[in-house]
Amino acid sequence: MSKIIVLIGAPGAGKGTQARLLEERLGISQISTGDMFREMKNADTPLAREVQAIMSAGKLVSDDLTFQIVQDRTSREDCKETFILDGFPRTAVQAEMLERLASVQKKEITAILVDVPLDHLMKRLTGRRKCKSCGELYNIYFKPPKNDNVCDFHPETKLEHRADDYEDKVNVRLAVYEEETKPLLTYYEQSKRLKKVNGEGELEEIYSELEKLV
Ligand code: AMP
Repeated sequence: MSKIIVLIGAPGAGKGTQARLLEERLGISQISTGDMFREMKNADTPLAREVQAIMSAGKLVSDDLTFQIVQDRTSREDCKETFILDGFPRTAVQAEMLERLASVQKKEITAILVDVPLDHLMKRLTGRRKCKSCGELYNIYFKPPKNDNVCDFHPETKLEHRADDYEDKVNVRLAVYEEETKPLLTYYEQSKRLKKVNGEGELEEIYSELEKLV
């Protein structure tokens, strides 16, 4: 049976990076609600402006809108078989919506927690920078660019600091995770669908642990 692989982790746990690697190396489609909302917020419509305000504040977009974009996106051809959800579900209501979607799509849900202690996440998030030209990711504490604030491959491009990666917004996002998303771990554990990887080590170590579970 095809699966819906749900990657759960606090903001900054590295689930997005790992999901992209799984997609690149195993050809499993990666659906990131955060990426979809970021694309959407560039549009100049009332809805896009509302999403932008919610995201910049570090809060969650409504369950209904989020589910609608997940439903639309996963009805495409590349989600016919197994796919990965990165950043969805994030609330109990979304988890219920996903149960219904999985049953319509005749898929099994497996949740994997990318586990990183809360106190390690702050530097990962506030230090994160991204090249707008090529998407290369840096961290000013752990993986700084050769020259301050510009990409190693695109010296003409200033690195981007996400609006929601500033410390006050990071605090909100971590609190939202604790309150809304963490209870999902118990939910998936009770139905014996939760697996865990230690998200603290090297990228490749985490990847190979994850690949075994997928
Ligand atoms: P991420 O890149 O996964 O950290 O997501 C960035 C932002 O997009 C979040 O802080 C939320 O504002 C929004 N977002 C992403 N996924 C969801 C979701 N499942 N439910 C509600 N809001 C979401």
